[in-house]
Amino acid sequence: MIIDILTIFPGMVAGPIRESIIGKAIERKLIDIRVINIREYAVDTHRTTDDRPFGGGSGMVMKPEPLAASIGSVRENDPTARVILLSPQGRLFDQKIAFELSRLNHICLVCGRYEGVDERIRNHYVDDEISIGDYVVTGGELPALVIVDAVARLLPGVLGSDESLIEESFTTGLLEYPQYTRPEIFESHRVPDILLSGNHGAIQRWRRQQALFRTWQRRPDLLNNDELSSEDKQLLAEEIENKKDLGIEKPGN
Ligand code: SAM
Repeated sequence: MIIDILTIFPGMVAGPIRESIIGKAIERKLIDIRVINIREYAVDTHRTTDDRPFGGGSGMVMKPEPLAASIGSVRENDPTARVILLSPQGRLFDQKIAFELSRLNHICLVCGRYEGVDERIRNHYVDDEISIGDYVVTGGELPALVIVDAVARLLPGVLGSDESLIEESFTTGLLEYPQYTRPEIFESHRVPDILLSGNHGAIQRWRRQQALFRTWQRRPDLLNNDELSSEDKQLLAEEIENKKDLGIEKPGN
């Protein structure tokens, strides 16, 4: 997969993509990430990429010409590239969209700055707009990195074991069950006995139950009761009862 990142601050993304899982995926040629400096496509002597907004108001707006030229250079090489503008006004990024993007051969992430980009770029040069959440950050670089990371780890071979993807939060529609590692006792807190039992069937059942309970407790919006099997419903009801006895309930209850 190819991911282009168009930015006026290439240094903000160059470091993070060299590290960890993404850095290794690049080394192993599982992914090609190209950081393109929009400023190089500005034609005036000062390489200007922003200007004052028509109609007045505060802040600056990214000029259309350097954006159009840099997006054009990507499209010229590959007309199939999906051009995505990072924007707080875009569709809300989630694991489903990460899977959707991971199936494409080429995406081009356009990072806005200042008050954003000239509306004509949005209307005529962009295929898609994505937001990473209902808040505003200073530029599109951090949102682009969030998307790169979430998408790259879904590509075949990028994670050590593709199995880690199967059970993690959101992939199954549930939050993931609690995880423990050594030592068995940490500051007097013990790992649940079941995880040390060696009984794989019972461990699977416990994990499913914990995932159901955790989702019910923390993200009830993800839990569609109609889609739960009768066994899931029973596991959840049982755990709600258990936790009630321990005084642990849904927040707000
Ligand atoms: N004035 C814009 C508005 O109210 O919609 C916000 C501009 S923001 C300060 C500058 C740039 O940061 C945006 O053009 C976008 O590329 C990026 N950005 C900010 N928040 C974002 C978010 N939640 N998701 C994706 N990109 C975001």
